[in-house]
Amino acid sequence: MSDNWIILVPDEPSWVPEVWRQQQAVALFQALAPDADEVKASTADAIQLIDCGANFEAVFCQECGKELDVEWWGAQLDRESEAGFLLQPILLPCCQAKVPLNRLRCEFAQGFARFTLEAMNPNMDRLPDDKRAEFERILGCKLNVIYQHI
Ligand SMILES: [Zn+2]
Repeated sequence: MSDNWIILVPDEPSWVPEVWRQQQAVALFQALAPDADEVKASTADAIQLIDCGANFEAVFCQECGKELDVEWWGAQLDRESEAGFLLQPILLPCCQAKVPLNRLRCEFAQGFARFTLEAMNPNMDRLPDDKRAEFERILGCKLNVIYQHI
């Protein structure tokens, strides 16, 4: 038995939308995914890693396009986790670009955020782009969509 989540997170990791926006977004997700086990908005005190669980395949540099070593990635996550996800620019081993971890591209996407809007077992494969745009309007920020499989 496995579970799936669709999780929306602000592109800006520290961003937390106003509560009335959160409530509207929860209502929209409930309307879009009426069979979901649960729809909820959460706000953590600090930035968290929002991972994609078993959907994780690889991580890539967006500057040069190279795939990064998964052990290197894991070590960076451990270091950031201990530091509280400050997401400072770091020197990449591939092309010496200096970027924060949230500007690397994971397959499937992962995110760093304080605010999350999630639907558990939403019974939909993908959130259509036009629906994401609607959530972005409601929440007042650019969003990333994370598909978590556990
Ligand atoms: Zn690179």
